[in-house]
Amino acid sequence: MPVVRNWHNDRMVIIGDAAHATAPSSGQGASMALEDAVILAKCLRDRTDTASAFAAFTELRRDRVERIVKHGARAASEKAAGPVGRVIRDTILPIMFSRAAKDGGRSMSWLQGHHIDFAEPVG
Ligand SMILES: Cc1cc2nc3c(=O)[nH]c(=O)nc-3n(C[C@H](O)[C@H](O)[C@H](O)COP(=O)(O)OP(=O)(O)OC[C@H]3O[C@@H](n4cnc5c(N)ncnc54)[C@H](O)[C@@H]3O)c2cc1C
Repeated sequence: MPVVRNWHNDRMVIIGDAAHATAPSSGQGASMALEDAVILAKCLRDRTDTASAFAAFTELRRDRVERIVKHGARAASEKAAGPVGRVIRDTILPIMFSRAAKDGGRSMSWLQGHHIDFAEPVG
C-alpha cells in the first residue's frame, strides 16, 4: 500500500498502517506505528493547537516512513524474485549480511537504531 498523501486535516490525524502500511515482510510496521505515537504525543504536548500539532507530526515523520516503506517494498519484491533476481539476491545477500555483522549492525542503524528524544521540544 502506498504512503497516503494527506494524514491530517485540522481536526483528525491518521497514524500507523492507516497512513503508511509497510510490506509485512519488512518487519517494521508496528515499530513505525509506535514511533508515530511517541512523536504525535510530543507534538500535542508542545504545540498550542491540534492543527499545528498534526502538521508538525506529518512533517517530522514523512521522510522516515517513506524511506522505510520504499525499503520494505524493495525487500518484499526481492523475496519473490524470479530466476535472474534469485541469482543476484543470493550473491548480494551474503555480502550484505557479512558487512552488517562486521560493522556491528551500524549499516542498519538508520532502520533499527532510531532514537527519539522525548524530552526534546518540538520546534
Ligand atoms: C503477516 C504480518 C507480519 C508482520 N510482521 C511484523 C513484524 O515482524 N514487525 C513489525 O514491526 N510489524 C509487522 N507487521 C506489521 C504490523 O502488524 C502493523 O504495521 C501494525 O500492526 C500496525 O499497527 P496499527 O495500530 O497502525 O494498525 P492495526 O494493528 O491494524 O490496528 C488497527 C486497529 O483498528 C481496528 N479498527 C479498524 N477499523 C475500525 C473501526 N472502524 N472502528 C474501530 N476500530 C477499527 C482494527 O480492528 C485494529 O485492531 C506484520 C504484519 C503482517 C500482516
